[in-house]
Amino acid sequence: MYLPKSYKEAKIWPTIDVEELEDANFGIRKKEALDIDYEKIIMEWIELCRRHHTSSCAFVLGNFAKKYPKAVKRLAQNGHEIACHGLNHELVYNIPFKRWVEETKEAKKILEDVTGQKVKGYRSPSWSMPFEKRYYEALAYMGFKFSSSYFPFKTYMYGNEIDKKRPFKIFTQKGVITEIPVPKNVIPFSGGFYFRILPYAVTRYLFADLMKKGIKPIIYTHPYELMDHLFTRFANKIKMDTAFLLTFAGIGDTKKKFDKLMDEFLKEKS
Ligand SMILES: [Zn+2]
Repeated sequence: MYLPKSYKEAKIWPTIDVEELEDANFGIRKKEALDIDYEKIIMEWIELCRRHHTSSCAFVLGNFAKKYPKAVKRLAQNGHEIACHGLNHELVYNIPFKRWVEETKEAKKILEDVTGQKVKGYRSPSWSMPFEKRYYEALAYMGFKFSSSYFPFKTYMYGNEIDKKRPFKIFTQKGVITEIPVPKNVIPFSGGFYFRILPYAVTRYLFADLMKKGIKPIIYTHPYELMDHLFTRFANKIKMDTAFLLTFAGIGDTKKKFDKLMDEFLKEKS
């Protein structure tokens, strides 16, 4: 089978947080069933990455892997790295530390059982892991090697004050974890809500500007964001409130923006 180049070799880090739309912590309120074909979307993501000769790091929710093992297997078989996004997308700072450890372990095991591969990476749901040594120590103890849970911008739900743009190591009694932070360039821009609401030209400029400085930015998305016409598609099915806007507001289709961006920044040097 043709396997794309590892995402580690790409000039940006393509990542996807694999979860169901209902898992988002904004608290959307459904009016009717959403009927989303996740397996189809995952196949489209694999195809999108394949077109740009790259794989991605897929941070998969344990409960998603339980429900859609085939989709997760497909990602792994197509050369994407399966990393852990927790068990059920609860905000880490809201749950007792011990329970977080147990659930993270459980999620890691589900993913390893589904793919038959060791899981080395962790990204906390909604960047909600407190930036404290005990969390990193627990990750090292569980066998993780890297984390991508640091968001250098304080929002009402998540994030930190200090601007960290490059991967850094956290040394603990149980081992070393490399933290690969989401970058900001004045503002966050490289995924989710920010990626959706910024015009493409602005996003493009912010990426290019960081890369000129030798920084390799993470880009992140979610399966539901890759669907066409996000806003109109869900307008009748979900209560239109702030949660709706945070989850769906955007300029143009995210998948097309992703495609354009990958085209510009993942191109082979000839
Ligand atoms: Zn998530």
